[in-house]
Amino acid sequence: MDAGNTSMPEDDLLWAAARRLASARHAIALTGAGVSTASGIPDFRGRDGLWRKIPSWKFTIDYFLEHPLEVWELYAARYKALKGAEPNPAHYALARLESLGVLKAIITQNIDGLHWKAGSRNVIELHGNIREAVCLSCGAVVPIEEALAMVEKGETPRCRRCGGLLKPNVILFGEPLPADAVQKAFMLAERSDVILVAGSSLYVSPANQIPVVVKARGGTVIAVNMGEIAYRDIIDILIEGRTETVLPEIARRVEILLSGNA
Ligand SMILES: [Zn+2]
Repeated sequence: MDAGNTSMPEDDLLWAAARRLASARHAIALTGAGVSTASGIPDFRGRDGLWRKIPSWKFTIDYFLEHPLEVWELYAARYKALKGAEPNPAHYALARLESLGVLKAIITQNIDGLHWKAGSRNVIELHGNIREAVCLSCGAVVPIEEALAMVEKGETPRCRRCGGLLKPNVILFGEPLPADAVQKAFMLAERSDVILVAGSSLYVSPANQIPVVVKARGGTVIAVNMGEIAYRDIIDILIEGRTETVLPEIARRVEILLSGNA
């Protein structure tokens, strides 16, 4: 069933990560596609990547503006799979770390909403989310179901308020990231002394600058990831492994440490 890499990372590393988190004044997490692969959501860039079956150029903002209904129909098909996904132990471990008061926020590159589903409260979604559509004219945000109902009738989704074109509230290729989410993320980084990077290879900007900011102000960077990762020189504790295996082990150790201090 498994490809083979089931070996537990060294106990020492897990404890080192747990100790640093347990003693953090203000810790945050940055998550990428790797935390959701165990929920059946393929990595954007991987072999079964999200856009492999659909030509990625159709998910550019320019193509969308010219052929909105076609892109909406492709999106609707993709949405069903994303909507049905359930959180995995990686999401639950992060939610646990938040409820323990250790993690103050999760900044995510994922659009799947699985951090919310797992019970996390303070989640910043850098690439938007699948729950909503946004009006490109007046900025109104509406539940995605409203837009999908129009797609089902073969109509291009339009804003009820102003008649403007509705777009899924996820970032299409060629679009800037939502400014408010990016600003919040960097403000959090500025006040954090620990960042836990999980399931991100740190190849995508500006998300990869968030741990750089934490490091620059003397903070600790912990990373849990399978495979390649950029910015190795800023990572203090690197644990190579699947997030759904490693994060619960870290959370369990944090709980032990916190109960010992109590
Ligand atoms: Zn509008």
